[in-house]
Amino acid sequence: MTATESQQFLGACPHDCPDTCSMVVTVTDGKVEKVRGNPDHPFTRGGLCVKVTDFPNHLYSPDRLLHPLRRIGSKGLGRFEEITWDEALDEIGTRLRSIIDEHGPEAILPYSYLGNMGILNGLTVGDRFFNGLGTAVSERTFCDGGGITAYIMTVGPTAAVDPESLVHSRYIIIWACNVLSNNLHLWPFIEEAQRNGAKVVCIDPVRHRTAEKADWHIPIRPGTDGALALAMMHVIITEDLVDVDYVANHTVGYDDLVAHVADCTPEWAETETGVPADDIRTLAREYAAASPSLIRVGVALERSTSGGNAARAVFSLPSLTGAWREVGGGVLQMPIWAFPVNWDELHGPHPNAESVQIINQWRLGDALAGEHGGQEIKSLFVYNSNPAVVAGDQDRLRRGLAREDLFTVVSEHFMTDTARYADIVLPSAMATEHTDLMFSWGHLYLTHAPKMVEPPGDCVPNTELFRRLAKVMGVDDPWFELTDDEQLERALDWTAPQMEGITLERLRTDGYARLNLPDADVYRPHAEGGFPTPSGKVELAASMAAGGNFVAPLFRQGIPGNQDGGKVAALPTYKQPAETGEAAEFPLSLISPKAHAFMNSQYGNMDKQLGQQGPQACRMHPSDAEARGITDRSQVRVFNARSEIRAMARVTDSVMPGVVSMPMGHWSSPEYGEATVNALNSDRYADLGRAPTFSDTAVEVEPISTE
Ligand code: SF4
Repeated sequence: MTATESQQFLGACPHDCPDTCSMVVTVTDGKVEKVRGNPDHPFTRGGLCVKVTDFPNHLYSPDRLLHPLRRIGSKGLGRFEEITWDEALDEIGTRLRSIIDEHGPEAILPYSYLGNMGILNGLTVGDRFFNGLGTAVSERTFCDGGGITAYIMTVGPTAAVDPESLVHSRYIIIWACNVLSNNLHLWPFIEEAQRNGAKVVCIDPVRHRTAEKADWHIPIRPGTDGALALAMMHVIITEDLVDVDYVANHTVGYDDLVAHVADCTPEWAETETGVPADDIRTLAREYAAASPSLIRVGVALERSTSGGNAARAVFSLPSLTGAWREVGGGVLQMPIWAFPVNWDELHGPHPNAESVQIINQWRLGDALAGEHGGQEIKSLFVYNSNPAVVAGDQDRLRRGLAREDLFTVVSEHFMTDTARYADIVLPSAMATEHTDLMFSWGHLYLTHAPKMVEPPGDCVPNTELFRRLAKVMGVDDPWFELTDDEQLERALDWTAPQMEGITLERLRTDGYARLNLPDADVYRPHAEGGFPTPSGKVELAASMAAGGNFVAPLFRQGIPGNQDGGKVAALPTYKQPAETGEAAEFPLSLISPKAHAFMNSQYGNMDKQLGQQGPQACRMHPSDAEARGITDRSQVRVFNARSEIRAMARVTDSVMPGVVSMPMGHWSSPEYGEATVNALNSDRYADLGRAPTFSDTAVEVEPISTE
């Protein structure tokens, strides 16, 4: 290629988003010039979202970290000096060896999430290194730990409904999911179903963009979805709307469920949810009568006190009505279970798997304060994540990050709120600068993401970062001798039936490949039952409740565990939200959904996305605003016993009375200060899978005087 030639590559969006878009990338003079959606991809169909359309600006931002840095100012100030990789690795090696000698390897805590979703460079990329060292284990249950646990307890790890089958659905309930912001490419399939006569119902406290396009928006108090689902069961059972044959042949626990929901009347549910009893009856009747009926469940469902059990109740509904019989009927949660990833190969073994200390990421503040009941953490190693923004109880977490005796390393693209507390910052490569392969949690295609350009400056891919660290720390594991392509060959079970006809060579040429599963127009994986649960049936009463593994090993560097086993009821239960229920100390219920223009905390520093998202805002109903003397676009103080933050009030009837909505993902800013919404959120777990409780926070809001 000459200096002026352009070349086009097929790649993949690297973000923690269900859509995993196939991208066409134009490279000119060794730099990414343009990205656009790949029009040939059957699911993503040529579109990219607002987060990614200007990806070259992200890659070549003047703020991008290009060289290793060493801290020269106080923690949190963000003052650093440039150093070489050799100096950085030397210092990391010296400090980590000294901590291991003095305190043992479990004083080191890795911390990573899905800042990159690649099979190689994503969630598990550091596991073989940290497991090889024998460090503490980072439990990663930020996103759907509760939902996935509920799903496995109820229907097992099944890919379930193909999202492309939704065109056949005739009744679609979108439950706790803003599809148009966070699963954009599913919408055309829903819209096609709607054009074909399907009714689309959206259950959410906020009338967001998706709810606006639904045929029926049902506002619901945050954290009360379980009551609604149990009341729907009550109506379906008491009005004889049950598919008796399906229940008899493909479920267990039905008789117990009948007794369990006998008192869960729509009138009872109305007092919990705020949804009128008549609406609950109508919803249950319409849902049961329509065929095929489909429930798209969003991650937000799990994020309150009994969110995991709410998800269990929702996942049980299609078996009561026999919705699984038809193409486009059942539940769409995450089809990740279709991808035969060799997770064990990616995690590697831990030498102390039986008794290693396991620290949940949601409670990092607790661990750094030494209040987790285990060994003191002396070093924190962060990659693919920004805990200062995304974890709960933010004020306490930041105090922990500021500990002078904590040796912190952060591998990053930008100087995030977390990186400002680091002793050493390492520059990380982005997508297009390394090779990877993407599974998807929103469709059934594997997507290839090849290296197209050299990383700028001293940036290295995560795979290379851990090769270098393994060498420095003497982690003797042949995995680190493998090239990225060799690692990819071992990262998947290429002999699995769903991989028939798919090779790396084909992926390199075509960019993507649909798993070898039946066509979406005929795919009915559970028409005749066959659920991958212990009983082979939908477990309305879950056998796993008697001692199942309630945090999947995937979330814990491959370490199995059962810390919640025995405390879970066999049938889905409902409890009022802990903070916002009847005993609430503050009057308003705060939810912190995903932002439209940010990808979790990514893009929180980019001008274009910030412009689209707007400043840190507190959306509230006119009646709540008026009662407090708050006007639209005025400055407000949002507070509870944990903290207070400053925000711009947005007065809108799209939020139900009694609720305030503050999207997550803003970084600290000169305008709005250090604290962002997770300063208000607790680090309390939901009931299953140690999911976070972003949507169970009580607050008050008051105007800030400008005089
Ligand atoms: S963030 Fe999601 S919707 Fe946006 S380009 Fe990436 S995969 Fe597609």
